[in-house]
Amino acid sequence: MISARPSPTHSPVHDRRPDGLRDRTIHDQPAPPLSTHGETVVANESSLLALQRTFGNAHVARLVAERLQRQPAGKPVAIGDEQVIVASDAEKTEAEQIFKEIKEKYGIRMSSRSGISAIDSNYEQVPETVRKQVKTTAWTMEELRALARALTHFAPILGKERASSSRSGSKQETASASSIEQGINENTSKGKFVKKLKAQQFDDLRNITLYSSLTEFPADFKGDRVLEIEGIITHELAHGLLDYATDDYLKHLDYWKTGDAKSGKQGAEAPITDYGATNLDEDLGDAVRFYFLAPDKLKNGRGEKPGKPGNPCPKRFALIDGYVKAWKRTPPKTP
Ligand SMILES: [Zn+2]
Repeated sequence: MISARPSPTHSPVHDRRPDGLRDRTIHDQPAPPLSTHGETVVANESSLLALQRTFGNAHVARLVAERLQRQPAGKPVAIGDEQVIVASDAEKTEAEQIFKEIKEKYGIRMSSRSGISAIDSNYEQVPETVRKQVKTTAWTMEELRALARALTHFAPILGKERASSSRSGSKQETASASSIEQGINENTSKGKFVKKLKAQQFDDLRNITLYSSLTEFPADFKGDRVLEIEGIITHELAHGLLDYATDDYLKHLDYWKTGDAKSGKQGAEAPITDYGATNLDEDLGDAVRFYFLAPDKLKNGRGEKPGKPGNPCPKRFALIDGYVKAWKRTPPKTP
């Protein structure tokens, strides 16, 4: 079992993290949606949080079940060691193509068992009785389509392409992808399953794990579901694949004093979302999500005043644009 403790090579930004955990989790708070229709996600979730305080978890779990919608019906089929829920032969063929592309083009193994190992090693303080109940689950087509789309954003530094990129000197930070039923809330003796966890990047095992709740939306959600899922996966992938850029990101943004502490400086450009204001990692993850999926919103803001999360983020846009453009090295001149 690989230890969850940070290795000495970790960047200073992360070494300041109090819990020492490297599995930066997204969306135990929901992702602020990309689409306008999707604003209902946030509205519903915050009212659920309010209810949670009032009525407790059992009641809320029932409400969540009533309000959330997952995948249309289908049957599970095996692709390699994985299970995928498909509604037709055409979907099965599509799923097989996506598996092949993810492996051959992006150098990522589809392996839900890797997610079990990652959770096991990153939550070693959680009672074994709980850890033993971590279960793999079938992939949905929405998840697969979204994962394939999210990976296209990082194509220059994935698979064979990586060798001719600026990132050729280090190992690909995400090497396997897993579909797991539910994740665990904290690495303590009190750790338990948590329904709201959507996805997680495990740096030590170079794994991205997607949880069932990733594809759950409020019943009245009118936005593009696959686009929203693609956004969350893009955010998660950024935690791994752009981890190398966090020190530079910190250096250029006066909003942060350290990776975890805000500077409080007047007029500093704030993150693109409230979730991004959690810490520098989440700031970068959400900025990358908007950079690829809604670049105009990153540049021009989401309607908030300067200094507030959701403000125009020209600095963040320029920084990420710089990182992404640097991936493609100018090919060496042939004599
Ligand atoms: Zn995150």
